Amino acid sequence: MPRAQYDEWLKSLPEELCTFCEWQDYQIVLASTNHWLWILNRSPYWKYHTMLIPRRHVVEMSDLSVVETGELFTIYAIAVDALRNFQSNLPEGERTGKYIFFWRFRSEVDAEVSDQRKLSHFHLHLAPDRERMFDPLLDKDAHEVDYIPLLNIAKRLPSQVNTIYNGS
Ligand SMILES: [Zn+2]
Repeated sequence: MPRAQYDEWLKSLPEELCTFCEWQDYQIVLASTNHWLWILNRSPYWKYHTMLIPRRHVVEMSDLSVVETGELFTIYAIAVDALRNFQSNLPEGERTGKYIFFWRFRSEVDAEVSDQRKLSHFHLHLAPDRERMFDPLLDKDAHEVDYIPLLNIAKRLPSQVNTIYNGS
């Protein structure tokens, strides 16, 4: 459904209802594992926009358990394989070999500004990058920034593997 309609629909639901927790009533599931579901986006930003959601209601990626984190890559592989299969049957020009896979931090500030109801249930977006949608975001001057302050912070981070760049 179109975005504006989706926003109205979300607002019409009871405040405490999570449409991801209640996926059986509200979502179209493409595949599932013990801890994850691959679902269609009910109001897609792009064509064939899908999402990966944990069955458990967590807010941040860091809230996932070790088992859930590991299984994310299983559902991801299932989803990308299926998208590739699907894409290979599309006419030339509709196909892509590139997929985008990302998540956004849901801040309270963002929700206030947009006046939209945001789902706090963690989700990852997955879609074919047919329209090269991220390319306009590329920053051609990115290599010019001073990385030393970031590297200095990184040196103080706990690390189990000693592979951090040491500046030499
Ligand atoms: Zn939920």
